[in-house]
Amino acid sequence: MGIREYKEKYLAKAREYKAKNKEHIKEKNKEYWKTEKGQMISKIATWERRGIIYPNIKELYYIYKMTTHCNYCWVELVEGLYGFNKKCLDHDHNTGEPRGVICQTCNLRDVFATCVAPSENE
Ligand SMILES: [Zn+2]
Repeated sequence: MGIREYKEKYLAKAREYKAKNKEHIKEKNKEYWKTEKGQMISKIATWERRGIIYPNIKELYYIYKMTTHCNYCWVELVEGLYGFNKKCLDHDHNTGEPRGVICQTCNLRDVFATCVAPSENE
């Protein structure tokens, strides 16, 4: 069997499995995104969509995870989708470079952009 036939056979089998196990796959996926690895993958994908550039994105994720207080105002951070203490990764919108892990309040005020000296800003 050539590689092409093998591939077609494999794809047909995969389609069949998918059709038969729709609900099961859905549940499995849901569970996956709750695992530590799944959360990391989804967070990194979000950062990349936003244009964040960092040489070792996994390392950046660990720094993000380890950070417990806002790098700017030192309020205790919470993980989640809502609230003023929500953990955010601030980045430079021009270069994509991450600037710090900060709270939602500081992120909305764009604290790192405004604290840059005027000469550096040009
Ligand atoms: Zn803050």
